Amino acid sequence: VSSAYETDWTGRWHGRARSVERPGSTDEVGALLRRCSAAGVPVTIAGGRTGLVGGAVPPEDGSALVLSTERLTRVEPVDGDEGSVVVGAGVTLAALQRLAREEDLEYAVDLAARDSATVGGMVATDAGGLHVPAYGTTRAQVLGLEAVLADGSVVSRLHGLAKEALGTDWAQLLVGSEGTLAVVTAARLRLRPRPRTLCVGIVGVAGVAEALAVLGVARGLPGLRAVEYAEAPVVSRTHVLVEVAGPVELLAPLDPVAAADDAAGRAALWAEREAATETVARLAAERGDPVHKLDVALPLGRLADFRRAVDAVVPGDDLRVWGHLAEGNLHVNLWGDRDAAVLRLVAEHGGVISSEHGVGRAKVDALPLSRTAAEIALLRRLKQALDPQGLLNPGVLLP
Ligand SMILES: Cc1cc2nc3c(=O)[nH]c(=O)nc-3n(C[C@H](O)[C@H](O)[C@H](O)COP(=O)(O)OP(=O)(O)OC[C@H]3O[C@@H](n4cnc5c(N)ncnc54)[C@H](O)[C@@H]3O)c2cc1C
Repeated sequence: VSSAYETDWTGRWHGRARSVERPGSTDEVGALLRRCSAAGVPVTIAGGRTGLVGGAVPPEDGSALVLSTERLTRVEPVDGDEGSVVVGAGVTLAALQRLAREEDLEYAVDLAARDSATVGGMVATDAGGLHVPAYGTTRAQVLGLEAVLADGSVVSRLHGLAKEALGTDWAQLLVGSEGTLAVVTAARLRLRPRPRTLCVGIVGVAGVAEALAVLGVARGLPGLRAVEYAEAPVVSRTHVLVEVAGPVELLAPLDPVAAADDAAGRAALWAEREAATETVARLAAERGDPVHKLDVALPLGRLADFRRAVDAVVPGDDLRVWGHLAEGNLHVNLWGDRDAAVLRLVAEHGGVISSEHGVGRAKVDALPLSRTAAEIALLRRLKQALDPQGLLNPGVLLP
């Protein structure tokens, strides 16, 4: 049973679990963490295990138990007045999306791992995904959290009032903390009205510079929801995909090579871009060599220069690139030992080494490229205050 929890989605990160525990309620998480705290046992938290930086894989020495959130699947009735819902950390994104749709609402964050990625994992990594230009990352959807601290104490803020002014928002502190500060057990998430019409267009481009020109036009479109970029050969032709809430005529200023506003047509246009992560995973399996996944963000004004600089460091056969263009976020997938060189280029071009996947185990050593010593010291002090024994997700995030 443990083996599924000991290797990550990419096959690049491995560990050994002392045991795998699947608590079924917040109280059971509390009891488990109290026992771990008393015995000094480290805990690796696993959600849907679709993370791409090895954060849900236990250390190799077998010291940590894996706490899986898969049974934390409570669902409270949708609050239509407030436009929100409380769900357990183990609820998958696809289940949350279905729940929202039944009430004619929408959960704004969407990503291709939707069938497995969980609410807890998305909160812990502040998942971004496809609709950030319109709605922001997971952080912007979190109205409150319930969490269990390393000593087993439960903190809960799930009331769902639109505003409160009660000092430091600890829930937002946990968003993006990659399981190093607490186990998230439930979240109150914002739901939004579902758009009546959606359209998708594909614009062929030669590379990042042209793609940025398309972005400039797309930004003027009303109802803009997604601006995605993908390069051949991970897709059949290098393109920008634009999604807008509204009829297909809205896309005319982009002069798309293909466009659709019916569900089947839209899905067909999304298909290649959505499959990019799986396509590269298949290629990695064929090559017998796990892919190295870098998820970086650059200022838009330096993105084209950065992309050219990557070509000088990584040969084309070993490189696959796509990303969320509006945020300057490129997923640089590569084979060979070139991570450090590419991440140095990111820093030289004023970017950050992780834009949405997180630091996990994969980028711990590179964190000083994107955070100052004072920032890392602050993160350490927060960790020390909330988890003084350093039991939660050892080896993740902090160097
Ligand atoms: C095909 C594919 C497409 C993807 N696309 C995107 C994308 O567009 N945007 C994006 O941001 N990411 C994307 N990802 C990455 C991944 O899906 C996200 O990081 C997602 O948020 C991880 O959720 P999970 O439940 O699988 O978390 P896991 O992989 O299980 O865990 C991720 C991290 O969160 C911690 N964690 C998990 N649950 C909890 C909890 N309840 N409390 C505290 N810590 C916890 C883990 O310890 C680990 O450090 C993609 C992955 C795949 C495979």
